[in-house]
Amino acid sequence: MSTMATTIVHAPEYIPLSMLNALAYCPRRFVYEFVQGEMLYNEHVVEGTLLHQGIDLGGTAWVGAAVQERRVYVWSERLKLAGFCDVVEERDGVQYPVEYKKGRPGKWQSDHVQLCGQALCLEERLGVTIAAGLFLFAARRREVVPFTPELRAETERVAAEAQRLVASGELPPHLEQQAKCRDCSLKPLCCRMKYENWRGGAWWQPGRMTCNADRDRAVHGGR
Ligand code: SF4
Repeated sequence: MSTMATTIVHAPEYIPLSMLNALAYCPRRFVYEFVQGEMLYNEHVVEGTLLHQGIDLGGTAWVGAAVQERRVYVWSERLKLAGFCDVVEERDGVQYPVEYKKGRPGKWQSDHVQLCGQALCLEERLGVTIAAGLFLFAARRREVVPFTPELRAETERVAAEAQRLVASGELPPHLEQQAKCRDCSLKPLCCRMKYENWRGGAWWQPGRMTCNADRDRAVHGGR
């Protein structure tokens, strides 16, 4: 694993839609996964992979009045995005992306950015405007996601930032959001997952796992 900027000799032209999610969650995570090719598994990643096993087989299903096409490849030449929708559902002549999620609605917007990225690709392919998409959660809950001007703008910003980070090879700094780092599968790479014992350091607490960001803030006063 590199902790420094990475030079890409042949930068890919298109960004995978799943990597929009990674970047919206944490720019550093995006560079680790997409630019440096790092991948680790935690319980969240494994649960998500198992959930998608049936969907990834593809095919068509009729669910009530809706028709579901599973694992649909979409792309946008304008935004240089490409990837798969879990499902493209058609109901009353309207098509929209559907994503299957484990658990319950999360507190971060990264999934919404990925879903909106799928919609922007579909819109470009179909020549239509898609008002909203859908999350279906394993806990039998559903969430309608309106594709607001704000969410569309954020998705386009993230897509442009992905291109910039790939071109620059820059490794962004650690997040300041401990809750995100706690759930991040890359934490063992990104952070120091060991008990630190710097006696006299104000940041040291017995039994506490610290990451580089904690240590740097404590030692250098946040500089
Ligand atoms: S541990 Fe935190 S800073 Fe590091 S990649 Fe994950 S979310 Fe980003």
